Amino acid sequence: MIRSLYVHIPFCVKKCLYCDFNSYSMSSGIQDEYVEYLIKEINSLGIDRFQTIFVGGGTPTILSLESMEKLLKELSKFSPMEFTLEANPGTLDDDKLKLMNSYGVNRLSIGLQAWQDRLLKKLGRIHTLDGFLNSYNMARRHGFNNINIDIMFDIPDQSFEDWIETVEKVKGLKPEHISAYSLIIEEETPFYDMNEKGLLNLVDEENERNMYWFVVESLEAFGLMQYEISNFSIPGYECRHNITYWLNEEYIGVGAGAHSYVSGVRYSNKKGVKSYIEGIKTGNAKENITFISTDDEMSEFMFLGLRMINGISKERFNQRFGVDIYKVYSREIEELKELGLISEKDGFIKLTKKGIDLSNQVFVKFLRG
Ligand code: SF4
Repeated sequence: MIRSLYVHIPFCVKKCLYCDFNSYSMSSGIQDEYVEYLIKEINSLGIDRFQTIFVGGGTPTILSLESMEKLLKELSKFSPMEFTLEANPGTLDDDKLKLMNSYGVNRLSIGLQAWQDRLLKKLGRIHTLDGFLNSYNMARRHGFNNINIDIMFDIPDQSFEDWIETVEKVKGLKPEHISAYSLIIEEETPFYDMNEKGLLNLVDEENERNMYWFVVESLEAFGLMQYEISNFSIPGYECRHNITYWLNEEYIGVGAGAHSYVSGVRYSNKKGVKSYIEGIKTGNAKENITFISTDDEMSEFMFLGLRMINGISKERFNQRFGVDIYKVYSREIEELKELGLISEKDGFIKLTKKGIDLSNQVFVKFLRG
């Protein structure tokens, strides 16, 4: 059963300097047209119900009130249990929040990244700290009681003190969920070119790891429990939608560039806004269709599942593949245990602290071919 739907809104006011997401700065006319075709795609799915819906981007809150209403009305028909919308400071207002409330959006994810305006500027974000606080407080006033805040470490020029301030101040806002990511310098971004020219002052690996373990310990002591390498929540407020990905379960993605995983096949929609619209018009929006072999499915199950702090259930592996996990991965598991990168307890195999620090080394072990 497909439980999760991802809806992509590929528009932003302005591109952040580090961002390689599929998002563009485009006119409101194109945005409105895009939503028309997005709704056509949603209506063609032939599914009545999704347990989780995640509207991400880009910046979903950039849409006009009218387009947002059309989209949310359509999505509310699926009666999702968890209905998340990504909201960026500077694009949120009372009318949009009222609309989200009335169509059942029950979880917001707001991107802050850093508490310091000088770092927000460095990242090319469109908002200031005050802009973020206005949005956050407005959402609370509208009764949203499940809010995620995104924060980021290893930002150029970010000191350890800056990071401590970000973590402590964000904790003080008492969000139900925090995602804490390390900045990744992606190719084809302005940051990539700046880094190549030696213009970015990034912290070294040891400090980056110290920043990571600081946020883990600080949030856990505050009752925000780590349930995935980069995600923390009050127990019961874990993001069910994202857990679908980490459990390697099926999902559908709609919109430009959105990925789907259905019946052992992965595919994506055309990436550009115009080519996506053209694709929906002609019934030809899908591309990159890949059939996943059982070997690949097992690999994905391992390296996605190990991102979860509880790790992989040996029983779930057996139920899904009809074979004992040790029959497939005994050599890899034993080697990683020897290296102190994974451990096993109560039927679960999980990363150790050292394994979290060296997670790529662990994940690569499960790649076949
Ligand atoms: S707001 Fe998010 S999606 Fe948009 S450019 Fe910035 S990082 Fe990328």
